[in-house]
Amino acid sequence: MSDFYSERRVKRTRRPHQCRECMTEVAVGSPAIVSTGRYDGFFTYHSHVECSEAGRVHAEGSGLWGEDYMFLVDLLDYTEALSWLMERHPVAFERLRLSGRGPFRHWTPPPTYVPPKLP
Ligand SMILES: [Zn+2]
Repeated sequence: MSDFYSERRVKRTRRPHQCRECMTEVAVGSPAIVSTGRYDGFFTYHSHVECSEAGRVHAEGSGLWGEDYMFLVDLLDYTEALSWLMERHPVAFERLRLSGRGPFRHWTPPPTYVPPKLP
């Protein structure tokens, strides 16, 4: 179990950060979720608002919290999870796609795929 965990929303980041969920950049001036906690030592990380939301919804649905928590980048090996993400959290999916990791190194979007406009 996590000793503690908290999140706060930042309206505009002052420095660039790497989103812990999708591993792409949270650009300067963007809103972000800053997560802080203690689990095997202290941690702090930033996430895109949409990625944080998708990660939370996934954890609620799967029951994977704490040490079992799966960041979006951990879902790259799970086709079903990626389909869910594409359908339900298109902005987070698009960011993960743009990371070019895992299957997205060679992924050709289906003709029906319309990339969402990123906020
Ligand atoms: Zn992200």
